[in-house]
Amino acid sequence: MLVYRTFKELGEFLDLQKENGAIIGFVPTMGALHQGHLSLLETSKKQCNITLCSIFVNPTQFNNTKDLELYPRTEESDLKMLEAVHCDVAFLPNVEEVYPSGNIASPVNLKGLDKVMEGAFRPGHFDGVVQVVWRFFEEIQPDKAFFGEKDFQQLAIIKRLVKEKNSKIEIIPCPILREKSGLAMSSRNVRLSDSGRSQAAFIYSKLLEAKSASEKQLPAEIVESVKADFALRDTFKLEYFEICDIQFLQPVSSFTTPTRAFLATEIEGVRLIDNIALNY
Ligand code: AMP
Repeated sequence: MLVYRTFKELGEFLDLQKENGAIIGFVPTMGALHQGHLSLLETSKKQCNITLCSIFVNPTQFNNTKDLELYPRTEESDLKMLEAVHCDVAFLPNVEEVYPSGNIASPVNLKGLDKVMEGAFRPGHFDGVVQVVWRFFEEIQPDKAFFGEKDFQQLAIIKRLVKEKNSKIEIIPCPILREKSGLAMSSRNVRLSDSGRSQAAFIYSKLLEAKSASEKQLPAEIVESVKADFALRDTFKLEYFEICDIQFLQPVSSFTTPTRAFLATEIEGVRLIDNIALNY
């Protein structure tokens, strides 16, 4: 596996590959890799000739400095995991490489997708995401980029970004990978105690309940009942539970369009997000 830390070295390699007609697949991550990330890499490997994984903990998407400080950084084991799945290129730039002249983001009309849920609770988060993803897209110019439905709102925003910029990069959504307990895999899970981790399985059980309830109840009724169930558990600090359409990410009053349930909650001081498709 090749390991690059600058856009220049990476670009020289990619130019050669592109001249030879290679299809380039890009999997952006913040490291502390787990099976969820690896599933994106596997999908890329099936669809592309060269699979490139970036590891960069992007400071501009953290609205909370403590969260940024505590974000797990496990470069050595990440590189071993990437080798083991035969990733072709690992790209690990530092902050100066990604932002040589400060943090200027060019505005993009995200049609309000960045104002709800994660956007509302983490002000500036999606500005940082868009900034870093577009910086990487411009430099790397991959044919395809792979994003997990775990971060469904992010995926919707990246699709919007590519449309807005008239970019030809194909955005490939990948399904959520879960632990046996149902807990969505996340780099943040390592910060949970054993007890926290097993209690966090409650999140998925509530999403599954919402899914089966969507066959007979209205969104508002489901939202109310799930919120009440979370309120009964001291371990959780629920930030939001919403049922939204998948196109505009706006709360719905009936199940007439494809919808998902989305939530964010804190447990043991760790912020977790998850979502599930309801009626499609
Ligand atoms: P992150 O390192 O958390 O920024 O995630 C990098 C990419 O992996 C994003 O596209 C995430 O949506 C995706 N991802 C993270 N966790 C999972 C998971 N459990 N299943 C599928 N994809 C995931």
